[in-house]
Amino acid sequence: MTRRYCFVLLAAACATSPAAQKKEPEVAGKSIETTDLDRAADPCNDFFEFSNGAWRAANPIPPSMQRWSRRWQAGEVNKERLRDILEELSKGHWPQGSIEQQVGDHYASCMDQAAVDAAGVKPLAPLFAEIDAIQNAADVQKVIRHLHDLQVPVPFAFASFTDQHQPTRTIAIVLASGLGLPDRDYYVKTEPRFVEAREKYRAHVQRALEIAGRPDPRGSMDAIFALETRLAQSSLDNVALRNPYNTDHLMPFAELQKSSPHVDWNAYFDAAHLPHGDVNLAEPKFIEEVDRELQTLPIPAWRAYLSWQLLESASPWLAKPFEDEWFAFNQTYLNGVKEMKPRSTRCAENADALLGEALGRKYVERYFPPAAKARMMELVHNELAALKEIIQGLPWMGPETKKKALEKLATFNPKIGYPDRWKDYSSVKISRTSLWDNEEAGRRFNVDDDRAQIGKPTDRGRWGMTPPTSNAYYNPLLNEIVFPAGILQPPTFDLANVDAVNYGAIGVIIGHEISHGFDDQGAQFDAEGRLQNWWTEKDLQEFQKRAQCVVDQFEGYFIEPGIHHNGKLVLGESIGDLAGAKIAYRAYLKSLEGKPRPPDVDGFTPEQQFFIAWGQARGDAIRPETQRLMVQSDPHPIAKYRVIGPLSNIPEFGQAFSCKQDSQMVRTPRCEVW
Ligand SMILES: [Zn+2]
Repeated sequence: MTRRYCFVLLAAACATSPAAQKKEPEVAGKSIETTDLDRAADPCNDFFEFSNGAWRAANPIPPSMQRWSRRWQAGEVNKERLRDILEELSKGHWPQGSIEQQVGDHYASCMDQAAVDAAGVKPLAPLFAEIDAIQNAADVQKVIRHLHDLQVPVPFAFASFTDQHQPTRTIAIVLASGLGLPDRDYYVKTEPRFVEAREKYRAHVQRALEIAGRPDPRGSMDAIFALETRLAQSSLDNVALRNPYNTDHLMPFAELQKSSPHVDWNAYFDAAHLPHGDVNLAEPKFIEEVDRELQTLPIPAWRAYLSWQLLESASPWLAKPFEDEWFAFNQTYLNGVKEMKPRSTRCAENADALLGEALGRKYVERYFPPAAKARMMELVHNELAALKEIIQGLPWMGPETKKKALEKLATFNPKIGYPDRWKDYSSVKISRTSLWDNEEAGRRFNVDDDRAQIGKPTDRGRWGMTPPTSNAYYNPLLNEIVFPAGILQPPTFDLANVDAVNYGAIGVIIGHEISHGFDDQGAQFDAEGRLQNWWTEKDLQEFQKRAQCVVDQFEGYFIEPGIHHNGKLVLGESIGDLAGAKIAYRAYLKSLEGKPRPPDVDGFTPEQQFFIAWGQARGDAIRPETQRLMVQSDPHPIAKYRVIGPLSNIPEFGQAFSCKQDSQMVRTPRCEVW
């Protein structure tokens, strides 16, 4: 098939070129990737295989990746772009404190493997000395404060938080944290895969402590593991954490102090220069356990635990033996990844994590055309309009709830590309001499930048992702949908795409993020971002009944014998995909009104192109280890079921491909939430 890759803006010029007049003059843009299709598969039985099976067969997962698809490939291309920017800047001479100097010198220090290796574990020596000098619970807490300054959130975490009862202000939140395994279930569940993970983790802790020359690695490991197990036993599991009421404990400072009398909250807040204002204590039972440990845990066990957690957090940026040990457990064992990415890529990732908006500004200057923002705005508005119609037509929802839902829809705030106001990094001291010093400086900046929000009116301009990130999010407290520049590129979005593909790919993602405002979590927040019920009792029951259908559907999706998805854990994402596909499809059909019907591509109708675009944008290949980790800890289903799950519930999909009623891709009864 001949495809043309004209930019939409230049479509007229393309269409008049002699070549275009001969072949498919009517295709004004790039459509689906027909070479990615597995034509041996029946789209009505396994649409995941049909839509991208040939691509996956021809493109095995690279040894350094957990998952692989055209979209993951694009995410890695972003990192190559960052690397190119960094390499260029690292060669120049820039004024001290300029963005160019900071990101360039950070990159130079990161790429200097010889200097990093020569330093060994020495960069941590001052902190280890402080830990070794701990004599009592007050000393323990002083070290905890210093570790928090460096983004080592143990044994609890502390951050700024939009008050979910009064979202115009920002307060402090105290969260459960402090575990080395991916989540609390890994410490308490008895299935063989968890038992094995515990054994591997214990060996990893002991080895890392040995390499670092810490005292009594074996005994330390036992004490660390016992403490983390008790912390895990006092933590909520992933499903409980999805219910915002389970982590909603707003209290004045004095009550926080009363909840955990042996934690010196005065010292903590004072050291961070924070007002003694209201706090959300997310998991009171967890903090009670921390309070108990401060009274009972022997000092050598505290020293072991704090030095272990510091070491684990720092290891990716220390000498090779530490980096290798960290990688072997966290990437190879837990995710099945065979080898590290090139150092240049890891350094670019590190710069993105530490100096994200400084580097992101450079990325946006080069790679994000203003026209992309305008086109995205148009897509978002068309989809908000489509959901408005859907809500107005819902047969099961009463007028009172509909009114509230439409109010919420009307206040959605789309953010596209990059922040209107950039963070000011001029205070961050970066030099070429020590990667760890730069790491500390960057971490301190990010912690301070976050804490500085506490006690202030909520700043609605802040972003939770950096511009080059290939991802998107919804924040219920600000009722905002956010699309960084990094995701607004092929295969998810392209100014050159035909509408079927832009609506089928980024359009479904936009619909997905909008729908998060109305999923099992989002639907509990009102138009102003307050955690406040706006549903009538009857409508809420109808909503929950429909959500249960999706829970049951995903409980039936197995990744291997005996291991299936946790329907409640993936409910929000699955409602998002189901409603998102429906919204985007409706918006696409509406966009065609009054225009000539777009042409078929290689025999595929515009409707079929829309669904194939979703299969191609969403589908990926995944390692079995990563798949296991996701099913346990990730609220997202694996990509295969993010293609099959929603589409098999949408009658328009079956119609587009003329599927028979007994096809795998036609569910009866089908789930429909929105
Ligand atoms: Zn989502």
